Formats: sequence, C-alpha cells, structure tokens
Amino acid sequence: MEKRVLKKILLIATGGTIASQETEEGLAPAIAPDTLLKAVPEIRSFCEADAVQILNIDSTNLQPENWLKMVHVVREKYQNYDGFVITHGTDTMAYTAAALSYLIQNADKPIVLTGSQKPIGYGISDARKNLYDSFVLACEDKMAGVYLVFDGKAIFGTRARKIKSKSYDAFESVNHPVAARIYDGHVIRYFETPVQPGGPVFYEKVRPSVFLLKLIPGMDPDILEYVGARYDVIVIESYGVGGVPFVDRRNFLLEVEKLAAQGKIVVVTTQALFEGSDVGVYAVGKKAMNCPTLLQSYDMTVEAVVTKMMWLLGETQEGEEIRRRFYKPVHRDFHK
Ligand code: ASP
Repeated sequence: MEKRVLKKILLIATGGTIASQETEEGLAPAIAPDTLLKAVPEIRSFCEADAVQILNIDSTNLQPENWLKMVHVVREKYQNYDGFVITHGTDTMAYTAAALSYLIQNADKPIVLTGSQKPIGYGISDARKNLYDSFVLACEDKMAGVYLVFDGKAIFGTRARKIKSKSYDAFESVNHPVAARIYDGHVIRYFETPVQPGGPVFYEKVRPSVFLLKLIPGMDPDILEYVGARYDVIVIESYGVGGVPFVDRRNFLLEVEKLAAQGKIVVVTTQALFEGSDVGVYAVGKKAMNCPTLLQSYDMTVEAVVTKMMWLLGETQEGEEIRRRFYKPVHRDFHK
C-alpha cells in the first residue's frame, strides 16, 4: 500500500488562556507546547507536528517586538514545514493576526493563529476544538497566508475582531466574509488565496509610534497636542461614517490641522464595528477631508489600521510614501 506523506506543521506557542493554569494570582500561562500537542492526538493521523515555545505570556502583555519574534521563527523554519500554528491569548490575537498579515506577505503556506476562552486542561473548554481545527486548516492544500481560527471559523488575518470576552464564538470577521469554515475535520473554503511568484516577504521591523484616540462627546481637544508631540500617527476613532468635531467650545478640527502642519499623519476611523468609514458624507467629515494629511480607514478594522501603520513606519519616515502605501492593499481584497 502506498504510504501517505504527512504534512509537517510547527506549533509555535506564545501562552494565552489555552496554555493557562490556575495560580494564586489568577489564571496564568504555564502549559508546555508538548502538552498542547498531546491534547489533540487525533492530528497524528494527518500531520507530523513539532513544537517550540517562544513566549509564555498573557497576550495583554504582548508587545510589537513579540510579533517580530514570531516573524523570525516562521522565517527561520519556513522551508522545513508545510504550515504553522501559533497558539496565542485571545485578548490581542486580532492585533497579532493583522500585524503578521503585514509582516509576512505573499506566504504560500498557512500561518494559523488560535487560542481559547477556557484552558486546555479544563473538562469543558473550546481549546481542543480550536487547536484541532487549526491543524486541519494548516494541513489544507493550497491554503496560504495568515488566518485566525476560532469556533469553527477561519478569518483572514486583517479582518478579525474579538467581540466577546467569554463566549466561544469570540471573534467576528469584519467587513469581509470568513475565509473558510472547519467542520468535523473538513475545510469548507469560500476563497482561493492566489500567491504571487517570488515567495514570501518577511519584514522584521516595526515602529509602534501610533496612538489611538477614541472620541467621546465632551473630550478636550488639547489631548491632540499632547499625543502629537509623542506619536507620528494618530488614529481618531470617530463616530458613524466618520467626522471631526469643530464646535467652538471643543474644536478638534483646529488641532487636527495643527498636526497636519507638523507633518503628522491622522487617520479617521469609526467606533461602528461594521461597514467602515465614509468621511465625505457629512459636513463634519468633508471639512476634515480638506486637511491634506488626513486619511480614513474605509473598511479596515482598527487593528489593521494601527498595525499597518506600525509596519509602514518601520519601513519609512516619509509621510507621502506612508499615505500612498496605507491605501495600497497588500493582498488584493483580503488584507487592505
Ligand atoms: N487574557 C488572556 C490572553 O489574552 C485571554 C485569552 O487568552 O483568552 O492571554
């Protein structure tokens, strides 16, 4: 009988609830990656898995420098494996998924992030299913690029948002359908992921000089002077389709114009989860669009906006180039 060639997958463990145990200080990552693998013995029928631990932290503590470590391991091991599964805390996993989508471009292999709402050692937990599904997706032929797998859904890396703090269906795909669903070990794909010739491109620099300001009625616009002195990019999470308040009492537009004069980049995004920005619709937006350095997020998530800017700032300090490349999708429709 012909021997089936098993795919080789590398599990890269970074901590999170999936690997946590109860301690006197509360849940904290403790479980070694080999134990994670042992919890899903079924994967041995379709893949050979190795494991490395590069971090063991709650993802609340995760920093942009940690994304670079993930990129580095994937780059080093890229030729030895058919796919990668990264276990990660759920709290900042959507940021990591977006960041990796910009930092590892044109990958012709799957890089799958997953985690869970309950630790893998609990009797009732989503951990085993999410981990198993992630291996299934990582072994799927012609699957390529960065995904976040959770509760049976594979979400494109730049489209994910954590929307629930406790339930198993914790992640939503924002402004784009899910890439695939995983049922009983089978992948139902909704999109092909064409890869350009030339192989993957890895970026090993980020500059986290990005500030996110969530507007609320009554906020003092002086805050923009303060953050403008400290950050290169200021993302304003505005309301609805997007606008910048210009009432005399609290004139944000004036401060945005001052930032523009200093060469700072301001991006307007929205507190509405779905459907994105359309800043030219109302006068409160149109007025702001007169400001030459103002950008808007359109259908991108906040996670994608801030991580794309961190990646671009790592590439260049030149404002015009950042603005041009911010609007250039890195992967056709999937990753804006
Ligand atoms: N606080 C945890 C973390 O992000 C939550 C989780 O993993 O679900 O690491």
